[in-house]
Amino acid sequence: MKFIRIKNCYKVYKNGVAAIADLTLDIDKGEFVFVIGASGSGKSTLIKMLYREEKPTKGIVEIGGINVSKLRNRTVYKLRRKLGIVFQDFKLLPKLTVYENVAFALECIGMKGSEIRPKVLKALEHVGLKDKTRSFPNELSGGEQQRVCIARAIVNDPKLLICDEPTGNLDPNTSKEIMTVLDTINKDLGTTIIMATHDKDIVNRMKKRVIVLDNGVLAQDHMKGSFKISETV
Ligand code: ADP
Repeated sequence: MKFIRIKNCYKVYKNGVAAIADLTLDIDKGEFVFVIGASGSGKSTLIKMLYREEKPTKGIVEIGGINVSKLRNRTVYKLRRKLGIVFQDFKLLPKLTVYENVAFALECIGMKGSEIRPKVLKALEHVGLKDKTRSFPNELSGGEQQRVCIARAIVNDPKLLICDEPTGNLDPNTSKEIMTVLDTINKDLGTTIIMATHDKDIVNRMKKRVIVLDNGVLAQDHMKGSFKISETV
């Protein structure tokens, strides 16, 4: 069974904009997939349907056997617990330390402190920030803040990590570092990663599967390897 199954999926917003049209796509456990396309091509809409921020108008979105399209609002937490999300803007809580920011999600689901501590330290180790546990977000560089977000997203061992333009606010070198962190998480933990991005250099360098959206339609789906974004995409 495929880990993620999207079948004949449509998203039409209330204003009549068809953001996704007849999208069919399978993603296996452990894959690293880039979603690219021009601004307005439907990348964010696709990502939002995966974590059930938006519901498809028609069609199926299924993750790890959960039919996301059918989830009711009060059961969305069942899905959200199985995935981690990283955004472009870091969304860290400014008054909490690095440790507390990462621990917060686990506290919210009622985990005991003794269970939380090793998980938080392990997640911070994965992103190379174990020596910054007591720092506050405003004491960190942009790249470090994004690492905290990644630690927060993986702290509960999700099978799926969704990233929406995670390097959008970072310079090229810091972006490279973030990609190394994500690649390591994918390889070492086996976490499936889906990442929407505008960054051609990253996509061309990483040599992963690339899905290209064009006006909400799946225009190209290149398996791992040789795909290079030309100027026209
Ligand atoms: P991308 O992430 O590739 O820039 P989006 O998924 O944000 O694309 O947008 C796809 C299309 O849907 C665009 O035409 C956009 O204007 C429209 N759109 C996105 N969100 C909404 C919304 N909440 N309501 C109405 N239209 C939207």
